[in-house]
Amino acid sequence: MRSELDLELVSLTKRYGQTVAVDAITHLFHAGTYACLLGPSGCGKSSTLRMIAGHESVTDGNILLGGRDISYLPPAKRGTAMMFQNYALFPHLTVLDNVAFSLRMKGVDAPTRRARAAEMLELVEMTGLSDRLPAQLSGGQQQRVALARALITDPQVLLLDEPLSALDPFLRVRMRGELKRLQRELGITFIHVTHGQDEALALADEIVVMNDARIEQSGPTRDVFDAPKTAFVAQFLGSHNVIALPEGKIAVRSDELRLTAPDGARLQGRVTGVEYQGTHVALRAMIGGEQEVTALLTDKDFFGQPKDLGEAVGLDWDRKAAHALSA
Ligand code: ADP
Ligand code: MG
Repeated sequence: MRSELDLELVSLTKRYGQTVAVDAITHLFHAGTYACLLGPSGCGKSSTLRMIAGHESVTDGNILLGGRDISYLPPAKRGTAMMFQNYALFPHLTVLDNVAFSLRMKGVDAPTRRARAAEMLELVEMTGLSDRLPAQLSGGQQQRVALARALITDPQVLLLDEPLSALDPFLRVRMRGELKRLQRELGITFIHVTHGQDEALALADEIVVMNDARIEQSGPTRDVFDAPKTAFVAQFLGSHNVIALPEGKIAVRSDELRLTAPDGARLQGRVTGVEYQGTHVALRAMIGGEQEVTALLTDKDFFGQPKDLGEAVGLDWDRKAAHALSA
């Protein structure tokens, strides 16, 4: 079902000279969705986001927000806001003035914009630090200020380009939870660019996997994870084995592989690695040809029948756990 605030990309294209950074992508982002644009470095994620924000010109195609073509509007007129990777805070302005900046540009009077900025700082739990300069804040705090600054314009769509990449792993997981909470609280669309599959899985209602300037697969997060359509998606999401069988290539989740006796097994292999992970053991095995697969076994299953390096094993899986892959 379409809503009035859906964001639609129609054959959206970006070329830089000879480089095709975004190749005619078409996608509908439903209003109120937390969407992650996931893909390796250079696949066109930032270019896509910058075109939506209006910070990069559109070479071809259209961007529609609520049916309105915003492709050629200036950034401030689109109903979108962007949070940059490096936060891009003004070093000489206080936290409050950084957040209020866009309202000042719009000619909003000082008392109103200060009150509104204070509200935004409360939303990101930064009340009390409004008189500091950016240099006097930690990375996580700077990020909250950047968020408040983007949200003060009341966007329908918030665009976030690798917002967590500058944070240490502990803070990254914490901020991840904060972003999700904010999105739910505000009910607006978040489009979050990342090259980290764990980040996308943790946050997204919908995942859009990009590869080489195109959308390779998109859909509800669990649908994409449970049924990757291409070897690229299966490998990029991780936790999957791509297995070439005589009848075609398939993807099977690592936790769906079972060890069996080698004789008469569907696949036979030799153990090449055993990695203890606490609750699980990741067992790697070389199967026919030069293919290596990973079976993620519970610690109980593995230690009930432990295997050594070089040992022959059989591998099996339920038929419904296998997904046929297209090229
Ligand atoms: P991602 O964010 O997924 O890493 P980008 O959108 O930044 O990808 O880049 C996609 C492609 O476009 C890359 O090949 C990159 O080198 C190229 N590119 C990005 N920005 C520019 C630019 N300003 N000028 C020329 N080429 C660019
Ligand atoms: Mg990028």
